[in-house]
Amino acid sequence: HAAKQRGNGPATYDPSIDATSAQTLTLISELRQAVDRNELRLYLQPKLALEDRAVVGAEALVRWQHPQRGLVPPVQFIPFAEQTGFIRHLTMWVFEEAARHWQTLADEGLQLRLSVNLSTRDLLDMDLPQKFGALLVRHGVPAAAFCLEITESAIMDDPQRALATLDALNAMGFKLSIDDFGTGYSSLAYLKRLPVDELKIDQSFVRNMQSDRDDEMIVRSTIDLAHNLGITVVAEGVETAEAWNLLRELKCDQAQGYHMGRPMPVGEFSAWSTSWGMRRAAGETDSLHLL
Ligand code: C2E
Ligand code: MG
Ligand code: MG
Ligand code: MG
Repeated sequence: HAAKQRGNGPATYDPSIDATSAQTLTLISELRQAVDRNELRLYLQPKLALEDRAVVGAEALVRWQHPQRGLVPPVQFIPFAEQTGFIRHLTMWVFEEAARHWQTLADEGLQLRLSVNLSTRDLLDMDLPQKFGALLVRHGVPAAAFCLEITESAIMDDPQRALATLDALNAMGFKLSIDDFGTGYSSLAYLKRLPVDELKIDQSFVRNMQSDRDDEMIVRSTIDLAHNLGITVVAEGVETAEAWNLLRELKCDQAQGYHMGRPMPVGEFSAWSTSWGMRRAAGETDSLHLL
């Protein structure tokens, strides 16, 4: 399965994961209780406009504060959540937390679009649009405040059903994004057919674009493709000032990465954003030699 995934994320169900080991079974049963035990944590990572360094949004990323294992990263439990169907509860938990915090941030004067990751199972859940709609009403937040990130592989699992779900979500006003773009198997025909607002260039291309000419070409071409289709393009995994500057030259719209801001506990985001704004106003972020 070496060619399965170039990206970092657990995009799809992986049958090679051994779900029968005792350790795995324990983890799966513990995961089912994680929501009730209040062990899930929402982190936010800033998304910035390359042109003027403004904070334009943030991606919601989940972690599991396990009583014995400590802070467990999503790659270690999302695949099991996918496999067992628990992902549907997890997605609702993430979306609900995101909606709650969107309101908190808006009350503080921060109007940000929050990105939420969806998985294969979510796209196959025909009730998802209705469940999301009810949640929006309950929290009094607009659908346009959210961008839903979907991988190509999640769409290609059952393109007909995925398209139906995505069309419904789009009609409700959600923004849609293709995550880890370039790492999955998809066709440009689907890209044209999908109501997509954003493409995220996978970090594996961004990481090596200065040393690998093929990767630079892929980044460059993806930016052009997105713009020709009228789609916003985001680079993920921006770890250096040099990467930021090159992406800026290539006219990429937005960037996300450790160089500007790591994912942080949701409660810290507002303070981070204020401090970023002050550094930006003082010109300290101009060349982005921040670290
Ligand atoms: P993703 O959606 O592609 O999220 C981006 C990942 O890249 C995050 O990892 C983020 O911390 C990491 N990242 C951001 N900037 C940099 C950088 O400059 N360098 C490096 N090396 N990494 C960077 P994280 O939080 O560990 O999440 C991994 C994957 O797990 C996500 O990839 C996504 O596929 C999945 N995931 C995370 N949260 C959720 C969730 O709430 N629901 C679902 N379905 N999947 C999630
Ligand atoms: Mg990923
Ligand atoms: Mg994502
Ligand atoms: Mg990604």
